[in-house]
Amino acid sequence: MPEASGQESSGQGLKVAVIGGGVAGLAAALALRDRARALGVDLAVTVFEKDTETGGNLRTLNQGGWQFEWGPNGFLDNEPATLRLVDRLGLRPRLLRSSDATRRRFLLVNGKLQEIPLSPKAFLSSKMLSTRGKLRMAGELLVPGRRDLGRAAVDITTDETIDRFGERRLGREFANVMLDPMVKGVFGGESKQLSLAAAFPRMVELEREHGGLFRAMIALGREKRRKGRRTDAGPTGVLHSFDGGMAVLVDGLARALDEDAQAEVVRGADVAAITRMADGWRVSCSIDGYSVSWPSGEQGGFTAVLDAAPSHAAARHTAALDPALSADLAAIPYAPMAVIALGYPRDKVDHDLNGFGLLVPGQEKRTALGVLWSSSIFPGLAPDGRVLLRCMAGGAGNPGAMTLSDDELVKRMLADLGPLLGLRGEPELVNIIRHGRAIAQYVPGHLARLAAIDAAAARHGSLWFAGSAYRGIAVNACVKESEMVADKILAALTGARPQSAEVAR
Ligand SMILES: Cc1cc2nc3c(=O)[nH]c(=O)nc-3n(C[C@H](O)[C@H](O)[C@H](O)COP(=O)(O)OP(=O)(O)OC[C@H]3O[C@@H](n4cnc5c(N)ncnc54)[C@H](O)[C@@H]3O)c2cc1C
Repeated sequence: MPEASGQESSGQGLKVAVIGGGVAGLAAALALRDRARALGVDLAVTVFEKDTETGGNLRTLNQGGWQFEWGPNGFLDNEPATLRLVDRLGLRPRLLRSSDATRRRFLLVNGKLQEIPLSPKAFLSSKMLSTRGKLRMAGELLVPGRRDLGRAAVDITTDETIDRFGERRLGREFANVMLDPMVKGVFGGESKQLSLAAAFPRMVELEREHGGLFRAMIALGREKRRKGRRTDAGPTGVLHSFDGGMAVLVDGLARALDEDAQAEVVRGADVAAITRMADGWRVSCSIDGYSVSWPSGEQGGFTAVLDAAPSHAAARHTAALDPALSADLAAIPYAPMAVIALGYPRDKVDHDLNGFGLLVPGQEKRTALGVLWSSSIFPGLAPDGRVLLRCMAGGAGNPGAMTLSDDELVKRMLADLGPLLGLRGEPELVNIIRHGRAIAQYVPGHLARLAAIDAAAARHGSLWFAGSAYRGIAVNACVKESEMVADKILAALTGARPQSAEVAR
């Protein structure tokens, strides 16, 4: 840890409460401390985490030589925020890059596995879409751009679903075969139920700036060639994790905070409410079954509160403070998801598993949403001579799958995927993780709802929200937003100039 600045003193300085010790809350707490130290501002942070362990969804489980993830199996390098954090925590030596084979991805189309083509030429000769579907796709060049793009936050009637966008620009077949499974894979969601502007804002920008997707690809390709940039990372970047799994990131964050005299992480503190008192904010929580008001007694309250718990929990925290704000937070839906880890001896799997995995479009009518070939992505997750598969079921489109028994879930995964991958016999490892509320769903109206939440928080002053419920569900997005919100809090409390380029703009 860098030395504390001479101007800092532990005493009656600024005090910020951060609710939720997932990656968003921990990253925000550390960013607050780092920026305060750099500015010489006396600022203490208290993180309240409901569970006895910090990390939220980022948990890595080990069982008899197998290693599998509770939540995210990695993060992409297409956005630098998480990599910056990795360096800040000294974790670069433990960073793992996914194997090159993961560029190969598959879809189930009409009951058969099809490799997703990586070039236009390969696409034309693939069996991914019918000739008619390919022609319709090519017609994207002729589809005029919508004139009302970019207004979803202020005019909800312009908030188009991902499916509608796909059909309008690239045709019904493309929307069903390619967009639908991609949305299931990323959001556990339904393309017919999610807002393009909230879930994939870049797509809206591309259409707005270039008039269409192919036009955008051509223009961006030309620019890349002109600037001589490498283009081989693909549009989505390269997946990374750690030697030891994703828990390494949140453990590193928690360690950095635990070692900081001006930061406190209170584990096992289930926050019930936040209250605005004359001398600042009080956080009411339950610790070991006792109701506690924090800070207690005569000490002044918190100067600011950042609620980085899931939005449904933040809704409870703000219910008495501001019922309308609480209702907006509660209205953000979450999709459930079951993650089923299956381990097999290598010689009991016929498929070479040389790739990332496969996704299943809804029109294929399976219980499985997809399967990642985990031990191909990051070798070392399975014992020698074994392979690890990570199957997903449920999602917004099939919440009923969550009510299936463990045996039935495994049976359905094997029925759906066994013949495709040539799985023979019973799996050697089965581990099922059920996420009742896995991933926030950015439904149409999400951006307008965010605007209302921001306006309400601003009215209260010194109240902020962060986490995957708001402006990006990926780990990267959460880390980036946490840095930005830390900047905003410091700017509001001290008048300091924000460090993040995005906030400074
Ligand atoms: C199955 C699954 C797979 C995923 N795969 C990927 C992936 O491959 N790549 C990727 O980038 N992202 C992925 N994600 C998304 C990623 O996990 C999230 O973006 C990230 O974990 C969100 O972090 P967070 O801190 O916002 O929320 P969380 O991780 O949910 O943390 C919130 C914290 O708040 C705490 N809390 C809740 N209520 C209270 C309370 N009342 N008082 C105090 N604390 C409270 C919780 O215990 C928790 O620790 C996946 C998610 C899931 C569920």
